[in-house]
Amino acid sequence: MLKIYRVGVDLDITSKEFYIKLLDNVMLKVSRERTVTGDRVLELRPNLVYDTKNTIITNINQLAKTLNREPSHFARFLLKETGRAGSVTDDKLIIQGKMTSEETKRLLDLYIKEFVRCPVCNGIDTRIISQKRFRFLICDTCGAKSPVRRI
Ligand SMILES: [Zn+2]
Repeated sequence: MLKIYRVGVDLDITSKEFYIKLLDNVMLKVSRERTVTGDRVLELRPNLVYDTKNTIITNINQLAKTLNREPSHFARFLLKETGRAGSVTDDKLIIQGKMTSEETKRLLDLYIKEFVRCPVCNGIDTRIISQKRFRFLICDTCGAKSPVRRI
């Protein structure tokens, strides 16, 4: 068996498995619903509804839970990145103005890249800790400690 493919860690796999992995990879590129995180896939489906002035994400708690983050942290990120005003009530994040689902998914990807995925091993079993004025992403898979910005 040859070491031919890299998915976060080096794997020894047969050509059939390689082909399947290759197909998976193509499918992931095609699918906008999915976000690759190492060898695990996060299924994130933001539910968006609109009223006359606002965009409302109706499942902010569920999204945050999937990412293992506080809804308020994720909400602050979305508002800061878009420069919009908004608020969280119950399970809803209300954002002023119209935000498309494409924009929301792009922001989800950015959030995962910056605040969820371990930059060392690509793992997603991570948490954010505070030390004095600083924030660090701690990876429970490889133990890496990486600085993240405070939001
Ligand atoms: Zn790691």
